[in-house]
Amino acid sequence: MSRVVRVARAGLHQWEEPCLSGTRGSGTVFFSGCRLRCAYCQNQEISRLGRGWNLEVPRLAEVFRELEEQGAHNLNLVTPTHFAQPILEALALASPGIPVVWNSSGYEPVDLVARVASRVDIFLPDFKYALPGPAARYSAREDYPEVAQAAILAMRQATGPALFDEEGLLLRGTVVRHLVLPGNLPNTLAALDFLATLPTGTPVSLMAQYTPVGDLAGFPELKRALTSAEYEKVLESLDEFPDLDGWVQDLQSADARFIPAFDGSGLGDVGPGTSGASLPGAVGRQGAERITRAVGPGPA
Ligand code: SF4
Repeated sequence: MSRVVRVARAGLHQWEEPCLSGTRGSGTVFFSGCRLRCAYCQNQEISRLGRGWNLEVPRLAEVFRELEEQGAHNLNLVTPTHFAQPILEALALASPGIPVVWNSSGYEPVDLVARVASRVDIFLPDFKYALPGPAARYSAREDYPEVAQAAILAMRQATGPALFDEEGLLLRGTVVRHLVLPGNLPNTLAALDFLATLPTGTPVSLMAQYTPVGDLAGFPELKRALTSAEYEKVLESLDEFPDLDGWVQDLQSADARFIPAFDGSGLGDVGPGTSGASLPGAVGRQGAERITRAVGPGPA
């Protein structure tokens, strides 16, 4: 079993949901590589091209401790699934005193969820596709809906309902993200249908930040951002799901594009790297607004 992980960056990150970024930032570790190859991936530089630096387990544990010492509200492991075992070992070494966030694609077997659950406080999975058509078309994983649904249910069962502190920071729970893709309203509505069946206390983060990135020659429908009319339909549809709680991202926030430089920051002496070029597309979720009319978990 490999005791090496590949990481592109570690640091305090302000661009997650308000309950994760807080005032000091989420202690984010960006792992390189991914089990999916989404056509529209906004982190292609690391997910597909593998930009990153190899770290042994003891050094990864130090990186975790350093983020905590810097004041991170939580330890946010981004795309961790394919490095589950060495990450578990590093967490055992570091014993973090802040919540550990498993920030993943949702395409994970339930036995892996069970394996990592003892060291994870917060699951932050995507639910990208509720329909096999777009799952096959964009990520070559027709079985994504059933795999992710099972994983999300296992995550929710492991964490219980969302628990926030008095400042609104998430301490424990499962928050499910859904990125609204242009021209794919049926997929989003089907995703909301599923998310509405989850037990109370499972917040949803609806994201409008999609921006075309990379070679989308075979996907003309993805060569544009969401229109306001399109997103408005999604927001109107929330009325059909009165029990959904969570956050919705302002479409305007898609202008505030920011992605961290994947330059080895926060990893120590990793040697020279090429410049961490910024890619358009990753947008802050810090400005996301609470779905206000729903009753659910969260600070009073
Ligand atoms: S799951 Fe996320 S990181 Fe992986 S390829 Fe898809 S969009 Fe990129």
